Amino acid sequence: MSALKSSLIRQIQQGGPIDVGRFMQECLAHPQHGYYMTRDPFGAAGDFTTSPEISQMFGEMVGLCLADYWMRMGSPADFVLLECGPGRGTLMADILRSTRAVAGFHAALHLHLLEMSPVLRDMQAAAVAAFELPHGVVFCDGLEDVCADYPVLVLGNEFLDALPVRQFEKHGGSWKERVVGVSADACDLVYGVAQPALDPSVIIPKAVQDLEDGNIYEFSPARLDFTRRVCALLKAQGGAALFIDYGEAGSREGNSLHAIADHEPIPVFVRPGACDISVNVDFGALAVEVEAEGLDLFGVVEQGAFLRELGIDARAEGLRENASVKQGEEIEKSLHRLINSDQMGVLFKVIGFGYGSDIRFAGFSS
Ligand code: SAH
Repeated sequence: MSALKSSLIRQIQQGGPIDVGRFMQECLAHPQHGYYMTRDPFGAAGDFTTSPEISQMFGEMVGLCLADYWMRMGSPADFVLLECGPGRGTLMADILRSTRAVAGFHAALHLHLLEMSPVLRDMQAAAVAAFELPHGVVFCDGLEDVCADYPVLVLGNEFLDALPVRQFEKHGGSWKERVVGVSADACDLVYGVAQPALDPSVIIPKAVQDLEDGNIYEFSPARLDFTRRVCALLKAQGGAALFIDYGEAGSREGNSLHAIADHEPIPVFVRPGACDISVNVDFGALAVEVEAEGLDLFGVVEQGAFLRELGIDARAEGLRENASVKQGEEIEKSLHRLINSDQMGVLFKVIGFGYGSDIRFAGFSS
């Protein structure tokens, strides 16, 4: 049994069942046993592979998008580039490498990294050290640590899916909160239901309210709160945000909580804390929130369309020209993984929004 599982069983025996959001939070962020707190989970030898770990082309396209936006802002002499959940720092290293030739971009850039894991912070510091940024790197525990003096470009790849969701379940004709409890033999974690602490009639959309028993609706107070705080930052300082993740462009019902170990799905209660756990992002809810906050929503587009509009096909072609046959095949394979509809091209979405100007990120025409 994983160390976190025995700790959760004890905790629930003493204090009663916990909501799904708290369970997710403990799995990912528990100071000693949380998944991200103690290890490097990425890459072929890890549990899962993210877009920047598949190919440098991903970070190059994102770098292009950000540098283009900065130039169209009038190339401000100082701006904050805030990456949320930078993982190994691969995406940022690719962004910095591909923007080295953009005159004044690095000199203006105040790099901020929002990261909770000490292990990953060390890897991120090492990944960006070679660029010798004039303003260095600031690690942030939260958005309140972001320098308040300059416009901000905010970025996050596979960050929003790690923010906890809570779940309602229709049970006996009414919506209850889905909770995590302990089995009768005290050896396992099990799902149960409890009276909801939050009012389901306010949170659950009308179209979902009348579904039958057994249906689940997810909502993420943590993700909405984070989004609101990003909006407040942009309203106060100007700038724009770009978040990329898997999920649906419109709201939906259903349980998307899933665990991954060694690149394979496993049941969520098997190894809590020792495998990745995440959810699909409800981009529909985010888009509604962003507009309600008065920001300019650039759109929610598919990753494949976004990368193609930024020119990933031409970049792959350019890389292939100087590559061996074997390398050329690898480039082709990773291009397909990033943009094809049966791989990451459609399941992954990109949301962009900004404040304070009529400039929009490139990549949102579709
Ligand atoms: N962007 C990277 C890593 C994605 S994994 C990539 O694409 O490869 C999620 C990242 O977010 C990890 O770095 C994890 O430690 C971080 N993270 C998750 N929840 C967080 C939180 N609440 N606060 C700060 N960082 C968090």
